[in-house]
Amino acid sequence: MNVPFCDLKILYDAQRGDLDAAFRRVMESGWYILGREAEAFEREFAEWCGAAYCAGVASGTDAVELALRAVGVGPGDAVATVSHTAVATVAAIERMGAVPVLADVEPDRFTMSPASLERILENHDIRAVLPVHLYGQCADMDSILRLARAHGCKVVEDCAQAHGSLLHGKKAGTFGDAAAFSFYPTKNLGAFGDGGAVLVPDREAESRVRELRQYGWRRRYISEEPGFNSRLDELQAALLRVRLARLDADNAHRRRAAGRYLAGLADIPGLELPVIAPDCSPVWHLFVVRTPRGCRDALAEALAERGIASAVHYPVPVHLQPAYAGRTSADPAGLPCTEDLCGRILSLPMHAHISDTDITAVCDAVRAVLAGGPR
Ligand SMILES: *Cc1c(COP(=O)(O)O)cnc(C)c1O
Repeated sequence: MNVPFCDLKILYDAQRGDLDAAFRRVMESGWYILGREAEAFEREFAEWCGAAYCAGVASGTDAVELALRAVGVGPGDAVATVSHTAVATVAAIERMGAVPVLADVEPDRFTMSPASLERILENHDIRAVLPVHLYGQCADMDSILRLARAHGCKVVEDCAQAHGSLLHGKKAGTFGDAAAFSFYPTKNLGAFGDGGAVLVPDREAESRVRELRQYGWRRRYISEEPGFNSRLDELQAALLRVRLARLDADNAHRRRAAGRYLAGLADIPGLELPVIAPDCSPVWHLFVVRTPRGCRDALAEALAERGIASAVHYPVPVHLQPAYAGRTSADPAGLPCTEDLCGRILSLPMHAHISDTDITAVCDAVRAVLAGGPR
């Protein structure tokens, strides 16, 4: 048996004709940076998300930084986010000179705990709140927006794992003052290289991202403020347009796959399945189960022996990583849920082309290891 964790080559095979045509169109055009393809992709992606404006950038990390700067966060400002996330979230905050203040997550939803955020807002002068829609499910935006507004904070969404994720029928990236997306190849909408985008509801913020992503230029060659280079190139934009046309179908496949997992893994003693929060429709960037304490690594090894890949997102929370030691939480209660989850979570194979056979094989194997045999 061989069940890969995800398979990027399948994405090319599934759309080879259209991708090859897009590649040739750009190569023949003689225009490779900030041209028609990037503009068309920005328009199409904004429309798909239901957002007013979109600016393409070079990566998701850049998108987080530029989204924060677009809403007015500056050096020295405190930004509340979570420690249970890709390190990029926190790296982006620090790169622009802002200070990450780490909140705990909710055990079922894996996203920012409003109770923890509230304690932080009461103890700290926070400029912006940066929830992460982790694993493809929206954070509790009702509570987070209410708390942030009550404290006069901007809200920036990290949507790197949540392209198309719904809350109250609205897509991730349309709740706050700005949103950041990554198009790293494994994301639900992935390029064939690096890429990212910032969504914003107003034209001023959009202009600011467009200036900052290109040396602070408003007019060509005249920098209004120090900027840098973070552009989405024409080739990636053209390839992303092809992939965007399939994203609804891909997300639907992931939703069906998650439904099969939830049924196939039901009632295994000690195994906790992902919980779909009220009025949410996740896009299942990852399918993450919680194992009994002390069992995770043995389960991963037993699956590997059966040819089944798995992964851990993420084994060490940001505040416990060597580079970020000392970024402790401002929550007087600490980060108990974050620290508990990192030792128990396991991501099972999930991608837009996973087969029913593979899912059944994974479910049977997990059941065999944890409960001593298939039902
Ligand atoms: C992938 C990811 C990022 C960073 O995106 P890059 O394109 O790799 O820079 C940021 N935040 C989260 C939650 C991510 O998963």
